[in-house]
Amino acid sequence: MPNRYWCGACEYRTPWLDEPEGVPQYLGHYARKHPAERPDGQVESRRFVLRPRTGCLLLTALLVILLCTVGVWRR
Ligand SMILES: [Zn+2]
Repeated sequence: MPNRYWCGACEYRTPWLDEPEGVPQYLGHYARKHPAERPDGQVESRRFVLRPRTGCLLLTALLVILLCTVGVWRR
C-alpha cells in the first residue's frame, strides 16, 4: 500500500510511494536538507493519516463520549 512520507522540519513530502521507495527518498531528503536532525516526520497512508491533529480530534471525540456516558449514569 502506498504511503506518503512527510518531513518533520519543513513542508517536504514524498509522492505516494511504496515503503521500499518512499523510505529512502524520505531519508535522503533529511540527509540533504537537514543533516543535523534526526528524521522525525510522519507517514500518511491512504487509509488513515497519522498526524497530531487527527490524534487530537480522536481524543476530543473520546472525551465527549466519556462525558456523555458519565452524564447518563448520574441520572
Ligand atoms: Zn525537510
